[in-house]
Amino acid sequence: MDYQAVLEEVAAHARPYVRQGRVADYIPALERVSEDRFGIAVADIHGEVYGVGDWEVPFSVQSISKTFSLALVMAQSHGGHDDGIWRRVGREPSGTPFNSLVQLEAENGIPRNPFINAGALVVTDRLQTLTGDASTSMLHFLREESGNPDLAFDQAVADSEAEHGDRNAALAHFMASFGNLENPVPSVIEHYFWQCSIEMSCRDLAVAGGFLARHGLRADGSRLLEAREAKRINAVMLTCGTYDAAGEFAYRVGLPAKSGVGGGIIAVIPGRCTLCVWSPGLDARGNSVAGAAALDHFTTLTGWSVF
Ligand code: GLU
Repeated sequence: MDYQAVLEEVAAHARPYVRQGRVADYIPALERVSEDRFGIAVADIHGEVYGVGDWEVPFSVQSISKTFSLALVMAQSHGGHDDGIWRRVGREPSGTPFNSLVQLEAENGIPRNPFINAGALVVTDRLQTLTGDASTSMLHFLREESGNPDLAFDQAVADSEAEHGDRNAALAHFMASFGNLENPVPSVIEHYFWQCSIEMSCRDLAVAGGFLARHGLRADGSRLLEAREAKRINAVMLTCGTYDAAGEFAYRVGLPAKSGVGGGIIAVIPGRCTLCVWSPGLDARGNSVAGAAALDHFTTLTGWSVF
């Protein structure tokens, strides 16, 4: 496969969509990003990386971090205990917005999946218990997996999240009232905001997500996750990774994927490669418009949808 040629063609196809979305404005720090950005990168399972456009420009990973916090919790819980997290969070699509409270009451404080905010807060809470410092563990993990020692938090974004964090605090308090948090609410939401604020490029994210395409193996061949654990994360990405548009995304793209309101989307082709695309203009559900168009075109050109 001539990845570079495919990426050039995908980028040409996606460019007209770049201005069709709206940059996230729920916190002021995200609104400052130029809507004209577009980048895409592919990291194959052998460690080769290809990219086009703004593929080396760091952006706010936001909810893409939810994939890595889940992986880290599963990696830290080897030895038969990984089902622990699944007693506290489900794995069904929610069909409701990422920050919705409505299903939590009916389901006794158990979030529907780890990729809506409520579920991610539970995963961060677990990571906090396992590591003693969830967000720093996450940053170190991402530096290691991406091979980029310069990855950092964006303090302005984390502060802005905290200033406008009433909804996430409400979700956390509500789950705590059902006994579904192990740590104090302020510490859980703080670590969650920090993890969302990490800045990474398409290159960094495609490389860091390589273990998902290598059935749990890191780039150096060491095992991060059991193959069945990587399979599970990919499955939950496919069914729950793109907000309440996961069905539409599976229909159009047909890959495990996780999006974030920073405009990034990572996608996995198990056994072949990991992709990351970035363009900040979002559709009404919070997915990058040009990013989705690019991934749609990528699987059309290559025939590499998992279907
Ligand atoms: N930090 C964001 C929030 O919790 C994440 C948004 C997202 O990317 O879905 O509001």
